Amino acid sequence: MIARFRQGNMNASSTPSFKVYPNYFRGKVLHIVSRHQKQQFLEPVLASRLGFVCKTVSEVDTDLLGTFSGEVARTLSPVACAREKCKRAREFVSDGYLLASEGSFGPHPTLGWVTAGEEWLFLYDIEEDAELIVRDITLDTCFWRQAISSEQQCLDFLQRVGFPSQRVIVKSSQEQADFIFKNGSTPEEIVQNMRFLLNAKRNCYIETDMRAMFNPTRQQHLVKLAQILADKLNSICPACGWYGFSVTSVERGLPCSWCGTATNSVLNDIYTCKRCNWQHNKKFPQGIQQEDPQYCNQCNP
Ligand SMILES: [Zn+2]
Ligand SMILES: [Zn+2]
Repeated sequence: MIARFRQGNMNASSTPSFKVYPNYFRGKVLHIVSRHQKQQFLEPVLASRLGFVCKTVSEVDTDLLGTFSGEVARTLSPVACAREKCKRAREFVSDGYLLASEGSFGPHPTLGWVTAGEEWLFLYDIEEDAELIVRDITLDTCFWRQAISSEQQCLDFLQRVGFPSQRVIVKSSQEQADFIFKNGSTPEEIVQNMRFLLNAKRNCYIETDMRAMFNPTRQQHLVKLAQILADKLNSICPACGWYGFSVTSVERGLPCSWCGTATNSVLNDIYTCKRCNWQHNKKFPQGIQQEDPQYCNQCNP
């Protein structure tokens, strides 16, 4: 298996070159586990950059693991949830690779005051029983929710979020709603659903539909995730030839250009092979050898 990766004069003693081996995945089958048409956004990148033959596994009811609209609470972490989707898809697939994604939306984990979209792709290599995960976080997300009680409020919301390319959900309560309307495709229909809820339940909430096929900003993010995954799969361990050779930690301490003190900025990216544990330090990954004094605790305390 490992030998298949070896090509030309690449061997353990050569200088790490991060050369890619472009044909390893060509013709192999990638099963994308999705009921929300994610293959539309993942397949073009993964098929063109890696040569995967993509198929869709739509038999797994991924909504059972949690829905954005709240009917089913997601109890697993996003990674565990994506892993579980692949696990359930194993029933329908015997070889190749499985790919599932999971998204999470809400306050940015470190900035807090802005809304962020976090997305994970989980790849499972059936033959090798190996997994590979990529994650990305973006501020470019369409995630809004509010209570509405008038037609004008409803129409304003639709305009703000970019309806109808961005779809919305109307429901009777923020959490544990007993009425949820998911598929309104015209403003008239949404307003009608709102009126029904205001009459029946006295409350109406409207929110952006976060399912991939109804959320264009999420679709763009999935395309970006597919690129990140392709980069990672194309990054080959110089020692053993295994795919997914990537940054696993960083070493801080980039020296200040004025006083030479070690700053908190990254000095080395540390790459580790998941298969053979070979490590490589990539010095000055940001392309600078000294840090600007404004980031130095001595010069700019
Ligand atoms: Zn290796
Ligand atoms: Zn300094």
